[in-house]
Amino acid sequence: MTPHVELRGVTKSYRRRADVFVALQDVDLTVNASEFVSVIGPSGCGKSTLLMIVAGLISPTAGLVHVAGARVLRPLTDVGIVFQSDLLFDWRTVLGNVTLQAEVRGQDKRQARAKAIGLLKRAGLEGFEDRRPWELSGGMRQRVAICRALLHDASILLMDEPFGALDALTRDQMNFVLQEIWSEDRRTAILVTHSISEAVFLSDRVLVMSARPGRIARTIAVDLPRPRPVDVRESPEFLRYQRLLRDEIGYG
Ligand code: ADP
Ligand code: MG
Repeated sequence: MTPHVELRGVTKSYRRRADVFVALQDVDLTVNASEFVSVIGPSGCGKSTLLMIVAGLISPTAGLVHVAGARVLRPLTDVGIVFQSDLLFDWRTVLGNVTLQAEVRGQDKRQARAKAIGLLKRAGLEGFEDRRPWELSGGMRQRVAICRALLHDASILLMDEPFGALDALTRDQMNFVLQEIWSEDRRTAILVTHSISEAVFLSDRVLVMSARPGRIARTIAVDLPRPRPVDVRESPEFLRYQRLLRDEIGYG
């Protein structure tokens, strides 16, 4: 297996007036190419910080970050990011939101359009291309945000609690759609989530973070065959993983 993302001894501290607050301490992490990894842990344990460090949007105080063999010293371009809030622009159509990046990057408009239409279809949003984001439900909006992140074929997909605001049922559906889309080309994916069930359902490995200072306390490999059907959640193996993680995290 080829390492795609590598963090070695990554520490991040934030200065707060006279104090120094350690958000991440000595994090070592390897994510292999085509691997789907979730990061789970209590609020404030440094999950978003970790993700932004991988993206090159925050620089670590100490330690090394490599992506695809190159040291990360500036924001990555070969990356798709889905943030917690969908950050869609209400004055643009659904299609216009998905193709925005391509326009900013000066890519071929027609090609980007065709690809965006294909992605929206895969995400179950056919027929909504010309709608405005405010006409859509929360789940639909997040699907648009995911399509946008997938548009330019970046080899890494970073997602920060993309479904955090959705109800449990919609979330389960979204997890299924994400699995389907991810399975098609298996980009290296890192998902930050609060949901144990989401982490188990989607991941090859789940990293459990501890708080203050944030570090990776435990890694659990999820050995469930793919594709995983929706009702895998009721299987004894799934429940066993869920229990294992619940005990590890201490909530549930
Ligand atoms: P999580 O995503 O797990 O909730 P974050 O990575 O957002 O955690 O934050 C980790 C810790 O670092 C939190 O205590 C947060 O308050 C702090 N933090 C995050 N960003 C900053 C910042 N820019 N300045 C100061 N403290 C920050
Ligand atoms: Mg966060």
